[in-house]
Amino acid sequence: MAATNPSFNATLDDSTKHTFVVEHMDPELESWQLLEYQTIGSECAAANSRFLLTGLPKAVPELALVEQSPQSVDDLVSSANIPKERVCLLDPRGESDLAPEDGDKFDVFVFGGILGDDPPRDRTAELRVKGFKGRRLGKEQLTTDTAARVTRIVVQDKIPLADVPYIDRPSIQVSAAESVEMPFKYVKGKDGKAIMPEGMIELLGDDADKGILDLL
Ligand code: SAM
Repeated sequence: MAATNPSFNATLDDSTKHTFVVEHMDPELESWQLLEYQTIGSECAAANSRFLLTGLPKAVPELALVEQSPQSVDDLVSSANIPKERVCLLDPRGESDLAPEDGDKFDVFVFGGILGDDPPRDRTAELRVKGFKGRRLGKEQLTTDTAARVTRIVVQDKIPLADVPYIDRPSIQVSAAESVEMPFKYVKGKDGKAIMPEGMIELLGDDADKGILDLL
């Protein structure tokens, strides 16, 4: 299957502006996560940044446009001789909040490929032990694509974290009769709506019977 994706086994040593790495950590790859990863990939491409999905045992054909590697992010960092201090882990328990100047301090931003859980189980801890510098995006857990979006806004658009506009727990109309309240906050787009992965409203509609927390 790896042969279907020419970028499987990608390395970390040919970075563009910044490289965004998501280390997939869940046992399965849920439809929800596919949409999140696709979204991170297309937003990074539009921002002239690189997106690499690591830690997958085999290439995912649905993500053919996303660079993927079976290696873990720390193996890639050491094989590319990237100094650890140039790598930032986005971590709800990080040592300080992310700031615009972190865009110059770090080349690589690492995120846990973990679906949100309530209450949060701090699975980002598995990445914390790798010794990268940690940065917070506020106290509340964000979805992985929101975390990547906010990081780009802060380190590339140079907007301080406190000025990033959010919509808290938006209510999404999934059918004529039904709406679902999302259990997270989302960046507010130029159209005034919460930015979510393309296809997510349809997915919510398909799974409306399950309840949102069963999906995350
Ligand atoms: N419940 C998860 C946990 O226990 O760690 C949170 C997972 S969150 C959905 C996925 C990833 O987004 C995290 O691993 C982290 O890299 C990033 N992230 C989410 N919220 C964050 C925050 N407030 N500060 C820093 N990073 C965050």
